[in-house]
Amino acid sequence: MTVSQWGQISHYKDYCIMQNKTLHEIDMNKWKHDLSNQPKLRTYMLFKNEYKCENYVSMILPKSLRSFIAQIRCGVLPLRIETGRFRNLAVGDRICTFCNLNEIESEIHFCFVCPVYVSLRLLFYNSIDRLCPEFINLDYANKFKKMFTDKKTHNKECHIHSKLFSDEK
Ligand SMILES: [Zn+2]
Repeated sequence: MTVSQWGQISHYKDYCIMQNKTLHEIDMNKWKHDLSNQPKLRTYMLFKNEYKCENYVSMILPKSLRSFIAQIRCGVLPLRIETGRFRNLAVGDRICTFCNLNEIESEIHFCFVCPVYVSLRLLFYNSIDRLCPEFINLDYANKFKKMFTDKKTHNKECHIHSKLFSDEK
């Protein structure tokens, strides 16, 4: 093979790499655009920034726990924010019926605010605090993101405690 031919192959490889990057960017932009037009995916958008397989999918977890994680990530856990949709309730009317805070029963309310789950939340905080001491100081959106994406906190022990919330419901 001549130097010129090697040059052409190298140029062709660069061209293919550039094409793959461009196609990936187009896919990512379309995916992000599609997500932003789906109000049901409000929670999912909090932490899903990359188009890739999530850590929990490859973890060895009981089926019920895997199901819980998928449901809360996708915003389909049977919370009023979701079940109210079936009854055509306005989002503002999907109030938590377990407490008297008069807040929408969203994933954030369920995980971090609702006083009904205080004791379970403490168990969860104790387990996550050992892995991520800064967790307690994060805002709710970042806590949620950390719970369901960060490799350090996205582990079986923490999810078992978060699963307790849903068993309580
Ligand atoms: Zn509540």
